[in-house]
Amino acid sequence: MWAKNYLKTSKEHLQWAYFADEIMAINVPKSEEGVSLNLRINPLMQSWCTTTRKDGKGNPKFLQDMMGAIKRYNVCLEAITLTWEALQEMPIWYHEEANLRIRLLAKSRAALCLRNNHQIRTVGDTKDLAGKLTKRDHKRRAACQCGDCRAIRQHTGCEALYMCTNKASELLETLPEK
Ligand SMILES: [Zn+2]
Ligand SMILES: [Zn+2]
Repeated sequence: MWAKNYLKTSKEHLQWAYFADEIMAINVPKSEEGVSLNLRINPLMQSWCTTTRKDGKGNPKFLQDMMGAIKRYNVCLEAITLTWEALQEMPIWYHEEANLRIRLLAKSRAALCLRNNHQIRTVGDTKDLAGKLTKRDHKRRAACQCGDCRAIRQHTGCEALYMCTNKASELLETLPEK
């Protein structure tokens, strides 16, 4: 029952499920410590994993059981996030289905700007930004003065918009084609 409720994603995600995410985000194996804590949103939707320690220093028992049940029944994410809308709401950083390149991209300088200035959190956010600069008068270079570039710069304080939009496209390229 825990597992079933936990798997309700995004909007239906219950309060305790967010709490569960937080606990699991804090309790990670050494190998995942390089993933910043504030990017560890949900271990099923992203590629980082929570600890499997059972010596009392890991996750509380009910969470261990829950994750065990999820693995045992081989619940794959596809089954939970069927709707297009839900896919857009998946965290982009360390996206579960992305190829490993996303781990490098997540640590780039542009990625910091994407997170801190552009507030990019989800797949949908990333698509919005990557798809924004496609108007005719936009030039693919740093000093572009088209209306969209100027607006985004003003709104976000981004100093390298060209790099950021490129990086957004690169992030999307790490996802499997759907
Ligand atoms: Zn432009
Ligand atoms: Zn930027």
